[in-house]
Amino acid sequence: MEAIFDEHKVIPNQFITERNGVSLFLKREDLLHPEVSGNKFRKLKYNVEAAVLEKKNTLLTFGGAYSNHIAATAAAGKFYGLKTIGVIRGEELGENLEKTLQENPTLKFASGCGMQFEFVSRREYREKTSKAFIENLQKKFGGFYLVPEGGTNARAIAGCEEILSEEDKKFEVICCSVGTGGTISGIINSSAKAQKILGFPALKGDFLASEIKTFIRKNNWELITNYHFGGYAKVNRELIDFINSFRKNYDILLDPVYTGKMMFGILDLMEKGYFSENTCILAIHTGGLQGISGMNNLLKKKNLPQIVV
Ligand SMILES: *Cc1c(COP(=O)(O)O)cnc(C)c1O
Repeated sequence: MEAIFDEHKVIPNQFITERNGVSLFLKREDLLHPEVSGNKFRKLKYNVEAAVLEKKNTLLTFGGAYSNHIAATAAAGKFYGLKTIGVIRGEELGENLEKTLQENPTLKFASGCGMQFEFVSRREYREKTSKAFIENLQKKFGGFYLVPEGGTNARAIAGCEEILSEEDKKFEVICCSVGTGGTISGIINSSAKAQKILGFPALKGDFLASEIKTFIRKNNWELITNYHFGGYAKVNRELIDFINSFRKNYDILLDPVYTGKMMFGILDLMEKGYFSENTCILAIHTGGLQGISGMNNLLKKKNLPQIVV
């Protein structure tokens, strides 16, 4: 199957900084494709392939109103000529679709790619993995290939196993942001035993570690759980200021939901001497930049500074 981006294009890891004898490099998965967030394409790749092999002409998936996964699924569907249906949390968003699309760049983008939305209440959304809920969707939309929320399943993890290359084995520490845990699971699976994988959850919750354990075969990893900034998609002035100064210093944009929090955490740990001397760290920039303009709309409403793009 033709890839959405040139998978053989090598983007060199970018040197960021050196502190206390510890050096930090960044893998620019965000540069793989302008519309399909790095790790989301990795996660969709084998799912889309399976959908095509199973002769399904529709992808159906789930997400919040600003979801990177929704945007990526819509773009991938358009690229491969598959219809896409997004089951979106928040039935109020469907009341005036035109207004919703005006105010929400993520949904506007997805809609522009041809995605059809099914807005559901928060209560219904919690039932999204139940048999009854799925059967209802099948009655409504006919046969589809189902991609779980956040895109995480065994095929997604197989795709994320392709993030690290042979050359990356020279790094002692690999850092990545964690949402559902699919991306870190792929990275753990393809890491060398001597490498340490550090995950920075973007949300509060103790369930992540046990979730990750169901996907992986190694124990060279750890979650650093104190850089979630209050929870999923929660931000404060300190984080926004950090993202803006990182952009100014290194000319690299970070997203406020995932990579900004991870990078804040890594630099904070480097500052505090968490890593032993001569450690080489590779952080993964998983993308997510499409979410910035939606976040900026929210920041404006709260009278907080905005992310400079
Ligand atoms: C979705 C996402 C993540 C989290 O990936 P999981 O596989 O759900 O853990 C990290 N970074 C970005 C930019 C994302 O969009």
